[in-house]
Amino acid sequence: MANPSLLILAGDGIGPEVMAEVKRIIAWYGDKRGVKFDVSEDLVGGCAYDAYGVPLADKTMAKAQEVDAVLLGAVGGPKYDTLDFSLKPERGLLRLRKEMDLYANLRPAQCFDALADFSSLKKEVVAGLDIVIVRELTSGVYFGEPRGIFPDNEGGRFGINTQRYTTNEIRRVARAAFEMARRRNNKVCSMEKANVMESGILWREEVQWVHDNEYPDVELSHMYADNGAMQLVRWPKQFDVIVTDNLFGDILSDCAAMLTGSLGMLPSASLGAPMANGRPKALYEPVHGSAPDIAGQGKANPIACILSFAMALRYSFDMGDEAARVEKAVEKVLADGVRTADLMGPAAGTPVSTKGMGDAILAALDASL
Ligand code: NAD
Repeated sequence: MANPSLLILAGDGIGPEVMAEVKRIIAWYGDKRGVKFDVSEDLVGGCAYDAYGVPLADKTMAKAQEVDAVLLGAVGGPKYDTLDFSLKPERGLLRLRKEMDLYANLRPAQCFDALADFSSLKKEVVAGLDIVIVRELTSGVYFGEPRGIFPDNEGGRFGINTQRYTTNEIRRVARAAFEMARRRNNKVCSMEKANVMESGILWREEVQWVHDNEYPDVELSHMYADNGAMQLVRWPKQFDVIVTDNLFGDILSDCAAMLTGSLGMLPSASLGAPMANGRPKALYEPVHGSAPDIAGQGKANPIACILSFAMALRYSFDMGDEAARVEKAVEKVLADGVRTADLMGPAAGTPVSTKGMGDAILAALDASL
Protein backbone atom coordinates (compact mmCIF):
# COMPACT_ATOMS: atom_id res chain seq x y z
CA MET A 1 0.00 0.00 0.00
CA ALA A 2 1.18 3.52 -0.75
CA ASN A 3 2.46 5.58 2.16
CA PRO A 4 0.00 8.14 3.49
CA SER A 5 0.69 11.52 1.91
CA LEU A 6 1.10 14.85 3.71
CA LEU A 7 1.42 18.35 2.32
CA ILE A 8 3.22 20.68 4.72
CA LEU A 9 2.46 24.38 4.41
CA ALA A 10 4.50 25.96 7.20
CA GLY A 11 3.56 29.55 6.27
CA ASP A 12 4.85 32.68 7.97
CA GLY A 13 6.31 33.91 11.26
CA ILE A 14 6.62 31.11 13.82
CA GLY A 15 4.89 28.70 11.38
CA PRO A 16 8.16 27.26 10.00
CA GLU A 17 9.71 27.17 13.50
CA VAL A 18 6.96 25.06 15.07
CA MET A 19 6.59 22.95 11.92
CA ALA A 20 10.31 22.06 12.07
CA GLU A 21 9.58 20.16 15.30
CA VAL A 22 6.65 18.33 13.67
CA LYS A 23 8.93 17.30 10.82
CA ARG A 24 11.31 15.74 13.35
CA ILE A 25 8.41 13.75 14.79
CA ILE A 26 7.35 12.61 11.32
CA ALA A 27 10.96 11.47 10.74
CA TRP A 28 10.91 9.70 14.13
CA TYR A 29 7.85 7.73 13.00
CA GLY A 30 9.71 6.62 9.86
CA ASP A 31 12.85 5.62 11.78
CA LYS A 32 11.42 4.14 14.95
CA ARG A 33 7.94 2.91 14.12
CA GLY A 34 8.23 2.04 10.42
CA VAL A 35 5.38 4.47 9.70
CA LYS A 36 6.47 6.39 6.64
CA PHE A 37 4.72 9.38 5.13
CA ASP A 38 5.20 10.83 1.66
CA VAL A 39 5.80 14.45 2.58
CA SER A 40 5.77 17.37 0.19
CA GLU A 41 6.10 21.04 1.09
CA ASP A 42 4.88 24.30 -0.37
CA LEU A 43 4.04 27.88 0.51
CA VAL A 44 0.95 29.59 1.88
CA GLY A 45 0.27 33.11 3.13
CA GLY A 46 2.77 35.95 2.97
CA CYS A 47 5.66 33.75 1.86
CA ALA A 48 3.52 32.48 -1.06
CA TYR A 49 2.72 36.08 -1.97
CA ASP A 50 6.46 36.87 -1.97
CA ALA A 51 7.24 33.88 -4.19
CA TYR A 52 4.16 33.59 -6.42
CA GLY A 53 2.35 36.94 -6.09
CA VAL A 54 -0.70 35.24 -4.51
CA PRO A 55 -1.32 33.86 -0.99
CA LEU A 56 -2.03 30.38 -2.41
CA ALA A 57 -0.89 29.33 -5.89
CA ASP A 58 -3.19 27.16 -8.03
CA LYS A 59 -0.60 24.39 -8.09
CA THR A 60 -0.50 24.37 -4.28
CA MET A 61 -4.29 24.23 -4.15
CA ALA A 62 -4.25 21.29 -6.58
CA LYS A 63 -1.68 19.47 -4.43
CA ALA A 64 -3.79 20.06 -1.31
CA GLN A 65 -6.74 18.38 -3.05
CA GLU A 66 -4.66 15.28 -3.83
CA VAL A 67 -2.95 14.49 -0.52
CA ASP A 68 -4.37 12.57 2.42
CA ALA A 69 -3.86 15.50 4.79
CA VAL A 70 -2.53 19.05 4.85
CA LEU A 71 -0.50 20.30 7.83
CA LEU A 72 -0.44 24.07 8.14
CA GLY A 73 1.69 26.28 10.42
CA ALA A 74 0.41 29.86 10.47
CA VAL A 75 0.01 32.78 8.09
CA GLY A 76 0.27 36.55 8.30
CA GLY A 77 2.53 39.30 9.54
CA PRO A 78 2.84 43.09 9.64
CA LYS A 79 4.71 43.13 6.32
CA TYR A 80 1.50 42.09 4.58
CA ASP A 81 -1.00 44.26 6.45
CA THR A 82 -1.28 46.85 3.68
CA LEU A 83 -1.89 44.36 0.86
CA ASP A 84 -5.18 44.42 -1.00
CA PHE A 85 -7.84 42.29 0.78
CA SER A 86 -7.76 39.64 -1.97
CA LEU A 87 -4.00 39.15 -1.53
CA LYS A 88 -3.82 39.05 2.25
CA PRO A 89 -2.15 35.93 3.72
CA GLU A 90 -5.41 34.81 5.37
CA ARG A 91 -7.04 34.55 1.94
CA GLY A 92 -4.75 31.57 1.26
CA LEU A 93 -6.10 29.78 4.29
CA LEU A 94 -9.70 30.64 3.45
CA ARG A 95 -9.22 29.35 -0.10
CA LEU A 96 -7.97 26.02 1.24
CA ARG A 97 -10.95 25.69 3.60
CA LYS A 98 -13.44 26.68 0.93
CA GLU A 99 -12.17 24.65 -2.03
CA MET A 100 -11.56 21.56 0.09
CA ASP A 101 -15.08 22.10 1.51
CA LEU A 102 -13.89 21.59 5.08
CA TYR A 103 -17.22 21.87 6.84
CA ALA A 104 -16.38 20.39 10.26
CA ASN A 105 -13.93 22.29 12.41
CA LEU A 106 -12.71 20.27 15.40
CA ARG A 107 -11.36 22.24 18.32
CA PRO A 108 -10.30 20.10 21.28
CA ALA A 109 -9.97 21.80 24.65
CA GLN A 110 -7.80 19.58 26.76
CA CYS A 111 -6.23 20.67 30.00
CA PHE A 112 -3.02 18.88 30.90
CA ASP A 113 -2.85 18.52 34.69
CA ALA A 114 0.57 20.15 34.82
CA LEU A 115 -0.92 23.32 33.31
CA ALA A 116 -4.16 23.49 35.30
CA ASP A 117 -2.86 26.56 37.19
CA PHE A 118 -2.67 28.45 33.89
CA SER A 119 -6.40 28.59 33.37
CA SER A 120 -8.33 31.62 34.53
CA LEU A 121 -10.76 29.16 36.15
CA LYS A 122 -10.25 27.21 39.38
CA LYS A 123 -7.92 24.24 39.08
CA GLU A 124 -10.59 21.68 40.02
CA VAL A 125 -12.88 23.00 37.28
CA VAL A 126 -10.34 22.44 34.49
CA ALA A 127 -7.88 19.74 35.63
CA GLY A 128 -8.30 16.71 33.38
CA LEU A 129 -10.70 18.54 31.06
CA ASP A 130 -10.99 16.88 27.64
CA ILE A 131 -13.76 18.12 25.35
CA VAL A 132 -14.10 18.76 21.61
CA ILE A 133 -16.13 21.46 19.93
CA VAL A 134 -17.28 20.62 16.40
CA ARG A 135 -18.05 23.89 14.64
CA GLU A 136 -19.80 24.07 11.25
CA LEU A 137 -17.31 26.01 9.12
CA THR A 138 -18.63 26.64 5.62
CA SER A 139 -22.16 27.99 6.01
CA GLY A 140 -24.42 29.99 8.32
CA VAL A 141 -24.43 33.71 8.92
CA TYR A 142 -20.85 34.28 7.71
CA PHE A 143 -21.82 33.13 4.22
CA GLY A 144 -25.63 33.54 3.88
CA GLU A 145 -27.19 35.87 1.29
CA PRO A 146 -28.48 38.55 1.25
CA ARG A 147 -25.72 40.38 3.03
CA GLY A 148 -24.39 43.92 2.91
CA ILE A 149 -24.86 47.50 4.09
CA PHE A 150 -27.65 49.45 2.38
CA PRO A 151 -29.27 52.93 2.64
CA ASP A 152 -32.55 53.00 4.56
CA ASN A 153 -35.56 55.29 4.07
CA GLU A 154 -34.60 57.64 6.90
CA GLY A 155 -31.27 58.82 5.51
CA GLY A 156 -29.38 56.21 7.50
CA ARG A 157 -28.18 52.72 6.62
CA PHE A 158 -28.95 49.14 7.58
CA GLY A 159 -26.73 46.10 7.65
CA ILE A 160 -27.86 42.55 6.84
CA ASN A 161 -26.40 39.12 7.30
CA THR A 162 -28.42 35.97 6.79
CA GLN A 163 -28.31 32.88 8.95
CA ARG A 164 -29.15 30.08 6.52
CA TYR A 165 -28.69 26.34 6.98
CA THR A 166 -29.90 23.44 4.85
CA THR A 167 -30.78 19.92 5.94
CA ASN A 168 -27.68 18.56 4.25
CA GLU A 169 -25.35 21.09 5.87
CA ILE A 170 -26.67 20.32 9.35
CA ARG A 171 -26.76 16.56 8.90
CA ARG A 172 -23.19 16.25 7.65
CA VAL A 173 -21.67 18.21 10.53
CA ALA A 174 -23.89 16.33 12.99
CA ARG A 175 -22.52 13.05 11.60
CA ALA A 176 -18.96 14.34 12.12
CA ALA A 177 -19.83 15.05 15.77
CA PHE A 178 -21.48 11.65 16.37
CA GLU A 179 -18.52 9.86 14.74
CA MET A 180 -16.19 11.76 17.03
CA ALA A 181 -18.27 10.92 20.10
CA ARG A 182 -18.10 7.21 19.26
CA ARG A 183 -14.30 7.42 19.42
CA ARG A 184 -14.50 9.21 22.77
CA ASN A 185 -17.11 9.14 25.56
CA ASN A 186 -20.16 8.73 23.34
CA LYS A 187 -21.91 12.00 24.28
CA VAL A 188 -22.96 14.87 22.01
CA CYS A 189 -24.47 18.18 23.12
CA SER A 190 -25.92 20.25 20.26
CA MET A 191 -26.13 24.03 20.80
CA GLU A 192 -28.33 26.55 18.98
CA LYS A 193 -30.97 29.19 19.75
CA ALA A 194 -34.11 27.24 18.84
CA ASN A 195 -36.03 29.46 21.28
CA VAL A 196 -35.63 32.56 19.07
CA MET A 197 -34.36 31.44 15.62
CA GLU A 198 -36.09 29.29 12.98
CA SER A 199 -32.68 28.16 11.74
CA GLY A 200 -32.11 26.96 15.30
CA ILE A 201 -35.35 24.95 15.26
CA LEU A 202 -34.26 23.30 12.01
CA TRP A 203 -30.78 22.65 13.47
CA ARG A 204 -32.27 20.93 16.52
CA GLU A 205 -34.69 18.81 14.44
CA GLU A 206 -32.04 17.70 11.94
CA VAL A 207 -29.45 16.81 14.59
CA GLN A 208 -32.16 14.80 16.37
CA TRP A 209 -33.03 13.09 13.05
CA VAL A 210 -29.42 12.04 12.45
CA HIS A 211 -29.24 10.74 15.99
CA ASP A 212 -32.48 8.75 15.86
CA ASN A 213 -31.82 7.26 12.43
CA GLU A 214 -28.06 6.72 12.42
CA TYR A 215 -26.52 7.09 15.88
CA PRO A 216 -29.10 5.97 18.47
CA ASP A 217 -26.24 4.51 20.57
CA VAL A 218 -24.76 7.98 21.22
CA GLU A 219 -26.21 10.08 24.06
CA LEU A 220 -27.60 13.33 22.63
CA SER A 221 -28.69 16.47 24.46
CA HIS A 222 -29.66 19.94 23.22
CA MET A 223 -28.81 23.25 24.86
CA TYR A 224 -29.40 26.90 24.01
CA ALA A 225 -26.06 28.40 23.03
CA ASP A 226 -26.18 31.16 25.65
CA ASN A 227 -26.68 28.57 28.39
CA GLY A 228 -23.88 26.58 26.70
CA ALA A 229 -21.49 29.50 27.16
CA MET A 230 -22.43 29.68 30.83
CA GLN A 231 -22.05 25.92 31.35
CA LEU A 232 -18.64 25.96 29.64
CA VAL A 233 -17.21 28.21 32.31
CA ARG A 234 -19.29 26.78 35.17
CA TRP A 235 -18.55 23.06 34.77
CA PRO A 236 -16.96 22.22 31.39
CA LYS A 237 -16.31 18.58 32.31
CA GLN A 238 -20.05 17.83 31.84
CA PHE A 239 -19.39 17.84 28.06
CA ASP A 240 -17.72 15.38 25.70
CA VAL A 241 -18.47 16.58 22.14
CA ILE A 242 -20.30 19.86 21.46
CA VAL A 243 -21.69 20.46 17.96
CA THR A 244 -22.79 23.91 16.92
CA ASP A 245 -23.07 26.29 13.98
CA ASN A 246 -20.47 28.62 12.52
CA LEU A 247 -21.25 31.75 14.54
CA PHE A 248 -21.86 30.14 17.93
CA GLY A 249 -18.93 27.78 17.30
CA ASP A 250 -16.62 30.69 16.64
CA ILE A 251 -17.40 32.17 20.03
CA LEU A 252 -17.82 28.99 22.09
CA SER A 253 -14.58 27.43 20.80
CA ASP A 254 -12.55 30.50 21.77
CA CYS A 255 -14.21 30.48 25.16
CA ALA A 256 -13.37 26.78 25.60
CA ALA A 257 -9.81 27.40 24.40
CA MET A 258 -9.12 29.77 27.25
CA LEU A 259 -10.10 27.09 29.76
CA THR A 260 -6.81 25.43 28.98
CA GLY A 261 -4.29 28.27 29.34
CA SER A 262 -1.90 29.09 26.51
CA LEU A 263 -2.60 29.62 22.84
CA GLY A 264 0.59 27.67 22.19
CA MET A 265 -1.15 24.46 23.31
CA LEU A 266 -4.23 24.38 21.08
CA PRO A 267 -4.51 22.16 18.00
CA SER A 268 -7.33 22.02 15.46
CA ALA A 269 -8.56 19.98 12.51
CA SER A 270 -10.91 20.89 9.69
CA LEU A 271 -12.51 17.93 7.96
CA GLY A 272 -14.58 17.55 4.80
CA ALA A 273 -16.28 14.76 2.92
CA PRO A 274 -14.59 11.35 2.52
CA MET A 275 -12.29 10.98 -0.50
CA ALA A 276 -12.18 7.92 -2.77
CA ASN A 277 -9.84 6.16 -0.29
CA GLY A 278 -12.33 6.70 2.55
CA ARG A 279 -10.18 9.30 4.32
CA PRO A 280 -11.80 12.69 4.90
CA LYS A 281 -10.43 15.79 3.22
CA ALA A 282 -8.41 17.26 6.05
CA LEU A 283 -6.39 20.25 7.18
CA TYR A 284 -4.61 20.29 10.55
CA GLU A 285 -3.28 23.48 12.10
CA PRO A 286 -2.54 25.09 15.44
CA VAL A 287 -5.13 27.64 16.57
CA HIS A 288 -2.50 30.36 17.08
CA GLY A 289 -1.29 32.78 14.42
CA SER A 290 2.18 33.65 13.16
CA ALA A 291 3.16 35.50 16.40
CA PRO A 292 5.35 38.17 14.75
CA ASP A 293 6.36 39.45 18.22
CA ILE A 294 8.42 36.31 18.88
CA ALA A 295 9.10 35.04 15.33
CA GLY A 296 12.71 34.14 14.55
CA GLN A 297 13.71 33.99 18.22
CA GLY A 298 13.31 30.27 18.89
CA LYS A 299 10.77 31.04 21.64
CA ALA A 300 7.58 29.62 20.10
CA ASN A 301 5.85 26.69 21.74
CA PRO A 302 5.59 23.89 19.14
CA ILE A 303 3.05 21.82 21.12
CA ALA A 304 -0.10 23.13 19.35
CA CYS A 305 1.41 22.16 16.00
CA ILE A 306 2.62 18.79 17.33
CA LEU A 307 -0.84 18.03 18.78
CA SER A 308 -2.34 18.98 15.39
CA PHE A 309 -0.18 16.26 13.86
CA ALA A 310 -1.47 13.87 16.54
CA MET A 311 -4.99 14.73 15.39
CA ALA A 312 -3.95 13.84 11.83
CA LEU A 313 -2.75 10.44 13.08
CA ARG A 314 -6.12 9.87 14.74
CA TYR A 315 -8.61 11.31 12.26
CA SER A 316 -6.92 10.88 8.87
CA PHE A 317 -4.85 7.75 9.40
CA ASP A 318 -6.82 5.81 12.00
CA MET A 319 -3.75 5.58 14.22
CA GLY A 320 -5.45 6.44 17.50
CA ASP A 321 -2.82 4.56 19.52
CA GLU A 322 -0.02 6.53 17.91
CA ALA A 323 -1.91 9.79 18.45
CA ALA A 324 -2.20 8.87 22.12
CA ARG A 325 1.55 8.12 22.17
CA VAL A 326 2.30 11.69 21.01
CA GLU A 327 -0.21 13.17 23.46
CA LYS A 328 1.25 11.15 26.35
CA ALA A 329 4.77 12.29 25.39
CA VAL A 330 3.57 15.91 25.59
CA GLU A 331 1.88 15.22 28.91
CA LYS A 332 5.05 13.62 30.32
CA VAL A 333 7.27 16.51 29.23
CA LEU A 334 4.92 19.02 30.85
CA ALA A 335 4.71 16.94 34.03
CA ASP A 336 8.53 16.94 34.11
CA GLY A 337 8.40 20.74 34.19
CA VAL A 338 9.75 21.41 30.68
CA ARG A 339 8.33 24.79 29.63
CA THR A 340 8.62 27.19 26.73
CA ALA A 341 8.40 30.87 27.72
CA ASP A 342 4.62 31.08 27.20
CA LEU A 343 4.11 28.33 29.82
CA MET A 344 6.26 29.87 32.54
CA GLY A 345 4.47 30.92 35.70
CA PRO A 346 5.63 33.77 37.91
CA ALA A 347 7.93 31.45 39.94
CA ALA A 348 9.58 30.13 36.84
CA GLY A 349 12.99 28.72 35.98
CA THR A 350 14.63 28.90 32.57
CA PRO A 351 12.41 28.30 29.55
CA VAL A 352 13.44 25.91 26.80
CA SER A 353 13.58 26.93 23.15
CA THR A 354 11.25 25.65 20.43
CA LYS A 355 13.86 23.04 19.56
CA GLY A 356 14.42 22.26 23.25
CA MET A 357 10.72 21.40 23.58
CA GLY A 358 10.99 19.25 20.43
CA ASP A 359 14.05 17.46 21.90
CA ALA A 360 12.16 16.70 25.13
CA ILE A 361 9.11 15.35 23.28
CA LEU A 362 11.29 13.17 21.05
CA ALA A 363 13.06 11.81 24.15
CA ALA A 364 9.66 11.01 25.68
CA LEU A 365 8.64 9.27 22.45
CA ASP A 366 11.84 7.20 22.58
CA ALA A 367 11.05 6.31 26.20
CA SER A 368 7.57 5.13 25.15
CA LEU A 369 8.96 2.29 22.99
P1 NAD B 1 -1.10 35.16 17.39
O1 NAD B 1 -1.80 33.90 17.71
O2 NAD B 1 -0.10 35.10 16.31
O3 NAD B 1 -0.37 35.70 18.72
C1 NAD B 1 -1.06 36.13 19.90
C2 NAD B 1 -0.08 36.09 21.10
O4 NAD B 1 0.16 34.74 21.47
C3 NAD B 1 1.28 36.70 20.78
O5 NAD B 1 1.76 37.37 21.92
C4 NAD B 1 2.14 35.51 20.49
O6 NAD B 1 3.52 35.69 20.77
C5 NAD B 1 1.54 34.43 21.38
N1 NAD B 1 1.67 33.10 20.76
C6 NAD B 1 0.94 32.62 19.72
N2 NAD B 1 1.34 31.38 19.40
C7 NAD B 1 2.35 31.08 20.25
C8 NAD B 1 3.18 29.94 20.41
N3 NAD B 1 3.06 28.84 19.63
N4 NAD B 1 4.11 29.96 21.37
C9 NAD B 1 4.25 31.03 22.18
N5 NAD B 1 3.50 32.14 22.08
C10 NAD B 1 2.55 32.17 21.12
O7 NAD B 1 -2.23 36.25 17.06
P2 NAD B 1 -2.07 37.77 16.58
O8 NAD B 1 -0.88 38.40 17.23
O9 NAD B 1 -3.40 38.34 16.75
O10 NAD B 1 -1.81 37.68 15.02
C11 NAD B 1 -0.50 37.69 14.42
C12 NAD B 1 -0.62 37.37 12.93
O11 NAD B 1 -1.12 36.04 12.77
C13 NAD B 1 -1.61 38.28 12.19
O12 NAD B 1 -1.09 38.54 10.91
C14 NAD B 1 -2.88 37.45 12.10
O13 NAD B 1 -3.66 37.80 11.01
C15 NAD B 1 -2.29 36.06 11.94
N6 NAD B 1 -3.17 34.96 12.37
C16 NAD B 1 -3.10 33.82 11.65
C17 NAD B 1 -3.83 32.71 12.04
C18 NAD B 1 -3.67 31.45 11.26
O14 NAD B 1 -2.72 31.31 10.51
N7 NAD B 1 -4.55 30.48 11.41
C19 NAD B 1 -4.62 32.76 13.19
C20 NAD B 1 -4.65 33.94 13.95
C21 NAD B 1 -3.91 35.04 13.54
